[in-house]
Amino acid sequence: MGEPLNTVKFDLHTHHDRCGHARGGIRDYIEAGIKNGLKVVGISDHTPYFSREEDQPFPHITMAKSQFPEYVKEVLSLKEQYAGKIDVLLGIEADFFPEQVEDYRPYFDKYPFDYIIGSVHHVDGVSIFKKDRWEGLTTQEKIRTKETYYSLIEQSARSGMYQILGHIDAMKGYYPEFSSIQTATVEHTLKVIAEEDIAIEINTSGKTKYVGGWYPADEMLEMALHYGVKVTFGSDAHDPERVGDEFDQVQKRLKEIGFQEWVYFKEKQRISVAL
Ligand SMILES: [Zn+2]
Ligand SMILES: [Zn+2]
Repeated sequence: MGEPLNTVKFDLHTHHDRCGHARGGIRDYIEAGIKNGLKVVGISDHTPYFSREEDQPFPHITMAKSQFPEYVKEVLSLKEQYAGKIDVLLGIEADFFPEQVEDYRPYFDKYPFDYIIGSVHHVDGVSIFKKDRWEGLTTQEKIRTKETYYSLIEQSARSGMYQILGHIDAMKGYYPEFSSIQTATVEHTLKVIAEEDIAIEINTSGKTKYVGGWYPADEMLEMALHYGVKVTFGSDAHDPERVGDEFDQVQKRLKEIGFQEWVYFKEKQRISVAL
């Protein structure tokens, strides 16, 4: 028997105003973390569109390419300023575009990231959150769309670029029926994630969309436990008020499902903490 693990309150998924659709600066999220009892807060804003020619093609989606170095610098400076009060981690939520992985990698290798969250936000070139993307699709087309989504998640897991996969059933956000589309690829993807030995987050931002609740659904968490997939926590806060949101409820639910520990990452090393 090793040393018993301690519990640690943490949140690895937070945004701020650089992305153009979040409220408040990084410091506000750190302060909110302290107020909400966190020992660890990860800053993980959206990646710029590194593969595009333009500096900032979509100002309401993510920061400009030219802002990326200053983003890193600000997080590192706040990490120092808050040392001893709260552990501030340098993360990022990276869009996964399979054909662009190699464009992104050098940007991540250049800086001392504690972790990278890989998130699939586009399937067949369309946002997973586009509300009308499901309209008029046949059952077969819905199944195919879901399978394409999980094949992208599987590729993201195999890319070797991420410690964490973000919100792995977020496609249900504006289409709750997504969860009942039956396909074996969900289970297959979880097996691959387990083989790759990376973590998935329990992301509590479902309430900001139609679906409510968390990503992923309990049924997927049960499968994740079965295959030995590691789990972590992220509020996906776009408002400082949501930092650490529903951490305690997630912790309780994971224990009910049968998990005994969860993880966070520092300098790309996985740290297990008790549930
Ligand atoms: Zn966002
Ligand atoms: Zn996301």
